[in-house]
Amino acid sequence: MKRENNFKSAAKTALEMLKEGGFEAFLIGGSVRDYLMGLPIGDIDVTTNATPYEVEDVFKDYNVIETGIKHGTVTVLLEGEPVEITTYRSEGEYSDNRHPDSVEFSRSLRDDVIRRDFTVNGVAYSFENGFCDLVGGIEDINNGIIRCIGDAETRFREDALRIMRALRFSSVLGFTIEENTKIAIRKCKELLKNISAERIREETVKLICGKNAYEVLEEFSDVLGVILPEIKPLIGFEQINRHHIYDVYTHTLKAMTKSRPSKTIRLALLFHDIGKPACVSFDEKGEMHFYSHPKKSAEITANIMTRLRFDNDTKNKVVTLVEFHDSPITVQGSNSPDRRRIKRIMSQIGEELIYDLIEIKRCDNSAQNPDYYRGDEFYGKTLEMIDEIIGGKECFSVKDLKINGNDLLRMGYKGKEIGEALRICLDGVIDGRIKNDYEEILKFIEKK
Ligand code: ATP
Ligand code: MG
Repeated sequence: MKRENNFKSAAKTALEMLKEGGFEAFLIGGSVRDYLMGLPIGDIDVTTNATPYEVEDVFKDYNVIETGIKHGTVTVLLEGEPVEITTYRSEGEYSDNRHPDSVEFSRSLRDDVIRRDFTVNGVAYSFENGFCDLVGGIEDINNGIIRCIGDAETRFREDALRIMRALRFSSVLGFTIEENTKIAIRKCKELLKNISAERIREETVKLICGKNAYEVLEEFSDVLGVILPEIKPLIGFEQINRHHIYDVYTHTLKAMTKSRPSKTIRLALLFHDIGKPACVSFDEKGEMHFYSHPKKSAEITANIMTRLRFDNDTKNKVVTLVEFHDSPITVQGSNSPDRRRIKRIMSQIGEELIYDLIEIKRCDNSAQNPDYYRGDEFYGKTLEMIDEIIGGKECFSVKDLKINGNDLLRMGYKGKEIGEALRICLDGVIDGRIKNDYEEILKFIEKK
């Protein structure tokens, strides 16, 4: 069969060199799976009967990094590609649901395959002998099934992260999870509490960016609730308000999966309404309102992202997007984007985040009652307006003002007053009450 994709030439070189050294070696894991699925091929993982020191010897003329030499992994830089080479190994008992108590190197491919997580990740390939499938992985790839290698419950008890990995692969590959694997996920989900924040974070981000994130998170909301207990109040929380037809959790998933798979946008959409249940109130007609929920959601988001040890840059962006997701970009009653409102938001969140914010608003709006959807054209016009504001170098931030802090200092302003005065000037310019002109701004301040 002719395929669209092919293994990278570095993969071939790695296997050839190991063979010349007298060893057995196969590609395994994601690259073989992706090859069989006709997808672009990512990282190259090689498994071999050579010990790490033997591998280092074979590649002694190359750049070799001892990535995890105790566990048998070294990374070799071949033709500009990092190739991860791991010695066949079998694993001892797991007493902490995380790490094997011991790792033993082995000379048998079978030992190495059966310690891997899912059948779809257990197919080995060599250029000479083709596929070596000891676990029925090819059939599961063809049928789109995620199935544990061996007894599912045992495998999840060994390493509970595999639960998140099952959900992640199901989401990213669009595969269904086999029935016994599902039952074991439900039995073992609480063990996820033993897994490190970093590992949970990495799998969660991949999961929410997958093409089947909606289906997976709808079905496994209980698993998500173990790692993100803050989500639990959203599940089944009906919104008695004419703008909404879904409970908060369903709305959240629908909004999230309408966006492009960007990490920051998807995280912001996952968390945008997480503060709603805590902010609910009723009006005299019995309709629900959620005043100040963006602020509450931002607060909860910051806590979650700190706990999951996200880097500060990602955390700050997501928290800001959550905080501003509901800030109006029209004047009340109008259905056209309002330049002043948009510039005011830009003055607070900056030019880098404004496009993401508009995408979040579009997804949020389109996952509510369709009668109130503003329409794609509205969002298109909004983006054009932002292009004009940025392209035309219109003033939307304090640093764009024709007056600066030093000018005010000379006029006798001190400390905090300077920031406040600049802010007032900026509002005046954005609102069109004054021109962005040195003399005019001076007069304006003197009057104030
Ligand atoms: P991708 O790199 O596309 O995300 P992958 O399948 O290569 O997918 P990795 O996390 O890179 O996934 O792991 C490489 C291989 O190592 C997997 O295919 C699997 O065979 C094995 N593996 C990884 N993590 C585990 C685990 N927690 N338990 C058992 N086997 C694992
Ligand atoms: Mg990989």
